[in-house]
Amino acid sequence: MFRFFEEKAGMPYSGSVYTQVLAAGKVAQEMSGFTIIRESYGQEVLSDQRGIWLIAHELAHQWWGNAVTCQDWTHFWLNEGMATFMSAAYKEHRFGREEYLKDIEAAKARYLKVKEAEKDRSLVFPNWDHPSPEDRTLVYHKGAYVLHLLRKKWAKKDSGKG
Ligand SMILES: [Zn+2]
Repeated sequence: MFRFFEEKAGMPYSGSVYTQVLAAGKVAQEMSGFTIIRESYGQEVLSDQRGIWLIAHELAHQWWGNAVTCQDWTHFWLNEGMATFMSAAYKEHRFGREEYLKDIEAAKARYLKVKEAEKDRSLVFPNWDHPSPEDRTLVYHKGAYVLHLLRKKWAKKDSGKG
């Protein structure tokens, strides 16, 4: 996972140690050099390694969120959209294209639910002081979906199809 993110980011991990701590409760928070994840999630991954998305998401933040970060909260989607997208990309690398597309379709579905409720808005928030649950869905899932669309467009351009 480290090699994958280092290669995609084009830069080595900046620390000397990285730790993920499994803790009681519903915690999930990354910091420079370590991440706290809920203990029950660890049990889920032990029973099905395809559930590795959160481990990948939190590790991706060591590059997208910590090493490179937005200047202020208005571009918070660059942290969360990138980590969500890179988690799907890692799953593609490890388990195949189908796993990637499953995550992208799930992100798209969550985004479309917000859009159908007419709560869609720009990924750039002028004020992130009081985000709603829909706002959080936008930065994580619309963000990842937009990055997927950019990847698709880039791949077509790269192959000379568009
Ligand atoms: Zn995150």
